[in-house]
Amino acid sequence: MFKSPFAESILKRAQDQGLLNINLHDLRKYTVDKHRKTDDYPFGGGVGLIMNVDPIVRAIEAVKETKPSARSILLSPRGKVFNQKMAWELSREENLIFVCGRYEGVDERVLNFIDDTISIGDYVMAGGEIPAMVLIESISRLIPNVIGDESSLLEESFESNRLEYPQFTRPREFRGLKVPEVLLSGHHKKIQDWQLKESLKKTKEIRPDLLSKKARQTD
Ligand code: SAM
Repeated sequence: MFKSPFAESILKRAQDQGLLNINLHDLRKYTVDKHRKTDDYPFGGGVGLIMNVDPIVRAIEAVKETKPSARSILLSPRGKVFNQKMAWELSREENLIFVCGRYEGVDERVLNFIDDTISIGDYVMAGGEIPAMVLIESISRLIPNVIGDESSLLEESFESNRLEYPQFTRPREFRGLKVPEVLLSGHHKKIQDWQLKESLKKTKEIRPDLLSKKARQTD
């Protein structure tokens, strides 16, 4: 599941340049029984299978042998909902461990070996792999030198608690739809004012919650 997303574009370049190192760990390697089982039926009954605590904890401990300060993150719909502020915070960590659940989730005792539980949103995925990829991509692009022009990061959606202003490229007119005149004016100050106004307008229209004090990611 991980191979192709990690072998393309920004994530590939970052790894090639030594800015980022991604290692995959197969939980079966950390089993001790002959069937290499990583899941079992839930105590107390119920549908589906639960991932065993022991292979997950052995895998975390194996990684921590060489990276003792690695921060371990469990992907779960019961976690804190991921946002850009959390992406910035995690981008400053030296090592991260992402634990991906499957089936009905993981044995609750895994939480004793986890630093944070993170959700990618209020919906249920089949496994933690894609959620882990979502975190890895958004965190990696914030690591210094991963993105060519880092100033562009600060103008993006969610920075300053706003959505980004509308952007245009050639042609100047498409089927009667014209690029706003101000963007062609070359007047830097007027362009900046327009972008701020449009950014606030979009945020008010689509995500007014970002403007309320409670939802603010940055201050
Ligand atoms: N039974 C669980 C529940 O109701 O909370 C859902 C389990 S889900 C089918 C299987 C795995 O997918 C989870 O253990 C978790 O690792 C991952 N997953 C599913 N939705 C997720 C989300 N929104 N954010 C992060 N991980 C998620």
